[in-house]
Formats: sequence, structure tokens, C-alpha cells
Amino acid sequence: MDERIECDVLIAGSGAAGFATAITAAHHGLDVIMVEKESVFGGTTAFSAGVIWIPCNGHARRLGIVDSRADALTYLEHEIGNRLDRAKAEAFVDNGAAMLDFFERHSHVRYLLQTIPGLHAVGNDMASMMGGTYPGAGITIGPAMTFGYIAGRHLAGVAD
Ligand SMILES: Cc1cc2nc3c(=O)[nH]c(=O)nc-3n(C[C@H](O)[C@H](O)[C@H](O)COP(=O)(O)OP(=O)(O)OC[C@H]3O[C@@H](n4cnc5c(N)ncnc54)[C@H](O)[C@@H]3O)c2cc1C
Repeated sequence: MDERIECDVLIAGSGAAGFATAITAAHHGLDVIMVEKESVFGGTTAFSAGVIWIPCNGHARRLGIVDSRADALTYLEHEIGNRLDRAKAEAFVDNGAAMLDFFERHSHVRYLLQTIPGLHAVGNDMASMMGGTYPGAGITIGPAMTFGYIAGRHLAGVAD
């Protein structure tokens, strides 16, 4: 096949990373093509609960749940130890809240605060090396659709 297709950004894979890149690039006026090797979109992301850990996010702030850049970096240092890439961790902590705002403003995805017991990343789990001092619920948030699914199963009496 000799057909030549041009684009500004070629994305391989249609999971969260691919779609996040595609939406951001398209929003900034770039011509995007996404390719997917499977017959359906979504990758592992489509099976996941979609729960994300975003320090210093606006949802938490609006409910008076306060963490800090220093808390978040300390938590990551405790969890990841000497494998932590400090520059990547700082980039994540410094840009996560803006990322969340961007997707809620420019896509249909909506997040809800939810206390999710037992998840290590929630931070308020006593098994966490911060011993429950990180204000986890609210920093860990999930997409509205996931919680709708969980609520529906609960109402239907389906076991977890
Ligand atoms: C049951 C379950 C629950 C989870 N829950 C959570 C959660 O609550 N919170 C959380 O943070 N994480 C969760 N995870 C982990 C999370 O889902 C993954 O870390 C995340 O989805 C990875 O996203 P990704 O975009 O990097 O990869 P994927 O979503 O796997 O996307 C990669 C895509 O690339 C495609 N691809 C690969 N190679 C090529 C190629 N050469 N050409 C074209 N396409 C290609 C694949 O087919 C795939 O569609 C969960 C995972 C599972 C399985």
C-alpha cells in the first residue's frame, strides 16, 4: 500500500496515555492520528477502575481537604524509596492538578471524591509508611462512571 498519511502527532495505543496525549494535542490544534493494534479501543485502561491519585487537586481543596507539595513528595519517597525519579515525581506533583482541571474543562470525564478503604495509595491506610498521616481520601479520586458502576452493583446485590 503506497498511500501516505500525514499528521502532526502519531499515537500508538488507545489507553489513558494515548487518549490523554491525543486530546491534549488536538486541543492545541494539532492533527492527530491514533493507531491501535487490537480490534477495540481502550487497552488495560478500559478494564481499570480509573482511580487516580492527584495531590493538591481542586476537588479536595474545595472540600477543605488540604495536602501539600511537600506531603506528596514525602509520600512518594516513602512508597518508592531509592527508585524514585525525583524530577518525574516533581513534574507529576506540580502538574497533576492542572491536568485534572484541563480534562474536566475540555472533555466529558468527571471525577468524584470517594474514600476508598484498603488502597495503599489512599495514603490514610495505616500500612502506608506515612502511617495514616497523608490526607488520602480526596487526593485519591475516581471517575463518576466507575462509581456509578459500583453503586449499581451494590444496589443489585452483586458481591464485590
Ligand atoms: C483490573 C485493573 C484495575 C486497575 N485499576 C486502576 C486504578 O484504579 N487506578 C490506576 O491508576 N491504575 C489502575 N490499573 C492500572 C491501569 O489500568 C494502567 O496502569 C493504565 O491503564 C495503563 O495505561 P496505558 O495508556 O499506559 O496503557 P493501556 O491502557 O494498556 O494502553 C496501551 C494500548 O496500546 C496498544 N498497543 C500496544 N502496542 C501497540 C502498537 N505497537 N501499536 C498500536 N497499539 C499498541 C495496546 O493494545 C493498548 O490498547 C488497573 C489495572 C487493571 C488490570
